[in-house]
Formats: sequence, C-alpha cells, structure tokens
Amino acid sequence: MLENHGKEFATLTSPALDRLKDIVGPKGFITDPVEIEPYLVEERGLFHGETPLVLRPSSTEEVAAIVKTCAEARLPVVPQGGNTGLCGGGVPWEGDGAILVSLTRMNRVRAVDPLNYTLTVEAGCILTDVQKAAAEADRLFPLSLGSEGACRIGGNLSTNAGGIQVLRYGNARDLVLGLEVVLPDGQVWDGLRGLRKDNTGYDLKHLFIGAEGTLGIITAATVKLFPRPKEIETAFVGVAKVEDAMELFAQARKASGDQLTAFELIPRIGLEFAMKHGNGVIDPLGSKQPWYALIEVSSSQPESGLRDTLEGFLASALEKGLIADATISTNSSQAKALWLIRETVVEAQKREGGSIKHDVAVPVSRVAEFIDRAMKAVTDRLPGIRPVPFGHAGDGNIHFNLSQPLGYDKATYIARWQEFNDIVHAIVAELGGSISAEHGVGRLKRDELLHFKSTLELQLMKKIKKAIDPFDIMNPGKVISPSIPD
Ligand SMILES: Cc1cc2nc3c(=O)[nH]c(=O)nc-3n(C[C@H](O)[C@H](O)[C@H](O)COP(=O)(O)OP(=O)(O)OC[C@H]3O[C@@H](n4cnc5c(N)ncnc54)[C@H](O)[C@@H]3O)c2cc1C
Repeated sequence: MLENHGKEFATLTSPALDRLKDIVGPKGFITDPVEIEPYLVEERGLFHGETPLVLRPSSTEEVAAIVKTCAEARLPVVPQGGNTGLCGGGVPWEGDGAILVSLTRMNRVRAVDPLNYTLTVEAGCILTDVQKAAAEADRLFPLSLGSEGACRIGGNLSTNAGGIQVLRYGNARDLVLGLEVVLPDGQVWDGLRGLRKDNTGYDLKHLFIGAEGTLGIITAATVKLFPRPKEIETAFVGVAKVEDAMELFAQARKASGDQLTAFELIPRIGLEFAMKHGNGVIDPLGSKQPWYALIEVSSSQPESGLRDTLEGFLASALEKGLIADATISTNSSQAKALWLIRETVVEAQKREGGSIKHDVAVPVSRVAEFIDRAMKAVTDRLPGIRPVPFGHAGDGNIHFNLSQPLGYDKATYIARWQEFNDIVHAIVAELGGSISAEHGVGRLKRDELLHFKSTLELQLMKKIKKAIDPFDIMNPGKVISPSIPD
C-alpha cells in the first residue's frame, strides 16, 4: 500500500496496469518518465506530481472502462485537460500511485445545432476550437480566457472558468445545457440535453461543473451559443482612483444598454511591467494615470451606433471629472493592442521576481474598498511590496497579485505566501467575498477553504463527495480536505 495525504491506496499491480493499457491500445498510454513529465508540472510550478501511467483515451467507452478498472482496483484517478489550471488540481499527488487520465485525444465536435444555438463537444476540445466551431456556424461561444489556446472545455467546465466576458454572458456554469460524465464506478451518465427548460428534479450537471474532477470525468458537453457580435468597440480609459473606475463601470452598463462585454481594471504598475517585459506593448494614453479600465462593448447588429454611444458616454464622463483620459480603438489591430496590455500583465509580472497571488471576489460595490484596504495592509506589513491588483473588476473579481520588493530575496519572499494570504483573505471575508473567484480550489486552497466556508457547507460537500464517490478514487485529496469533520 502507498500512503499519502491521509489516505491509503492499493499499489498499482501489473494485472491492473496491463488491463488499463489494453483498454486504450498502444497509442493511448505513456509510461516513459520523460514523456510523462509535462503532465506532472503545473502552470505555476508550485507542485510536482507523480504517476506511473498517463492514459489518453479516445472515446467515452474507453474512459468508462478505465474508471471501472480503477474503481475495482481502488486506484486513484486524476483527470486532466490542458493542464493550465492554477490550483494544482490536475496533477496527481506524489506517492499515491494515481493514474492520470488526459482527455486531450477526445477532441471532436459531435454536433452543431445553429437553430437551437447549441454545440456538443468532447471534453478534450481546445477552447479556441470550440469558439471556432461556433463562429463557423455564425454563432458565438463567449467563454474567453488568457489560456484559451491550451485549456480544454472539460477543464473549463470542471473549474467553472470565468474570463473576460462573464459580466455579459456568465461564467462556464452559465453556458452549459448538458453533460456526459463517467461516474466514479465507471457508469456513463448521459445528460447531454440541449434544453433551456428542464425542471425535472435536481439539476445534476451543476454538481460536476466546478467539481475539479472530484466527482467524475466530464467526457462531453452541450454548450449554449449566442448571436455573433458584428460590431465591437474597445476603449482604454485612465482614472485617478479605483472608486472612479467602479462608478464608471456602473454608468457604462446603463449607458450601453447592457452591451458591455468586458470591464478590466489595470493599475499603472501593471502597464509599466507590460511595457517593460512585453513585446510591442505601448502606453496608449498621452498622460500617466494611476489606474486604467479596459472597456469593451459589442452588438450583434452591424452599424448599431455603438461607437457614438461609447464616445458620448466617455465625453460626458470626462466632463464630470470621472475619467482623466481615454482612447477608443479605430480598428481591430488597435483593439488587439489594447487587449495585449491586459494579457501581458501576468507574464510580465513573472519577470519582476516572486509574486504572491490571490484570485478573490467581493461584491462589485466593494471592489474599491477592498483594493484600498488590502493595498494598505500588505504595504504596512512589508514596505516596498508591489501590489498589482488587476482583473475582471466588472465581476468583482480581482487578481490581487503582490510582486516582491526590489532587491528582496525571492525564496524568502515566496515563503511568506501564507502570511499574505491571511492578511488579504481576512479582508475579503469581512467584505463578504470569496477566496477563489474563478481558479478553483484544487490542492492550493483546499485547506485554506476550511477557514472561509461554514462547517455546514463543508460537510455538505463532503457528503456529496462520499455519496457519488464512496471509495474516494476521483482526484482524491483535492478540494475536499480530510480535516472536514463528519
Ligand atoms: C495565462 C492563463 C490565463 C488564465 N486566465 C483565466 C481566466 O481568465 N479565468 C479563469 O477562470 N481561469 C483562467 N486560467 C486558469 C485555467 O486556464 C482555467 O482554470 C481552465 O479552465 C483550466 O482548463 P484546463 O483544461 O487546463 O484544466 P486542467 O488544468 O487540466 O484541470 C483543471 C481541473 O479540472 C479537472 N479536469 C480537467 N478536465 C476534466 C474533465 N474532463 N473532467 C473532470 N475533471 C477535469 C482537473 O482534474 C483539475 O482539477 C488561466 C490560466 C493561465 C495559464
């Protein structure tokens, strides 16, 4: 028996190993440690997992046979999509002999139904391929994130991903009508319905969305499509303080007739990092401003008058002193250049040394208060720390990332991760917020959750896990802490 994270699992015996390899055939498994390596390191390099075997099934039947075999042998199973997750959920723990099931070969579009505004895709489809399939049918699949060229739709649903268009279209959960899931005993639940109305009891799909692979393996999904935008306008606006940015957000929603698709907050330091380390990033405004908002509005009607509305709105905000400076892109390459600033912030921050990260949400009305208080609190604790709060402010979601002080030792700084989490998360809790807005829990925030969710909520989660996965083989030790009392 191998022991890990408070649990014991069966050792991978060679008959089970052989059975699993037989299920997927020679193209469907990897045992070479060098080839396995990329599946074991996650995006931020915080965890390094272990597995004796990576399986790459090509059909739901193969996934079902794998899970059944693992269930019988009591072998842990870790599903993985694009491995872009930021909480360590998709990499197996060290030492528990878990089998990693990569969904990347299950990448077919099963059905397009433009009349129903739906698309049925397999879990391993890359997000940009799902967007493309929708566009080919003159429809929009609105989920959009920085990792969209690598993450897979099964991973997006399992993490309930957010991204840049949530305020108009909702997060991944809001975009799903049906799911196909392999349950922890190997049974296949075919819930691939394309219905907008279906009040026939518990809505089971929502259990699997955001479950981070702890309740089963999503093998396919029927997702919602929308009319494709025919006119998109993008503006970059400088403001003196976050409070003004949030007031601007409220007014923009009203003025645009709810055609606002994105409202991203960027601090001056974020723009400076992006200009310093990014390729082709320039300051789009003539003057330096402490904060910026990247605003996008869109309409499914061409020449809908959106640009006039945006211009009029920004002119009036300028007159009222709500904004200090602004530019509106005149073509799609200028719009791309504005979005490049936002997309470069994360990568650029890596080049500024250690970064302690928080992916938090507070009510939109308290974003300014949160940022002011949290910036003061972390600076009081460590003068010289460089907060870079940015992100989907229109959803109340701030990536409150803290770059190390200049000249500070990186390892010493990163060792203070929990200390800063404690400070920031305490403020989030006081403001009625969440310590994980869109990245999930995985391994990174599993134990942190114990302090921020009520015992009743944690116990309900544990009961659901036990009911669906009684032998705890599906992504064990993630999301649900063994310390939750019965
Ligand atoms: C540059 C960058 C930008 C990002 N921007 C955003 C953003 O704006 N918004 C956001 O929400 N996230 C963002 N992320 C995080 C990440 O991309 C998302 O969490 C994404 O949804 C993960 O998809 P994936 O396919 O890579 O999943 P993985 O990392 O492979 O897995 C994530 C979790 O889901 C489980 N899982 C994966 N596939 C399945 C399946 N088929 N069935 C059951 N469980 C499964 C895994 O076990 C794991 O627990 C970003 C990441 C990067 C690197």
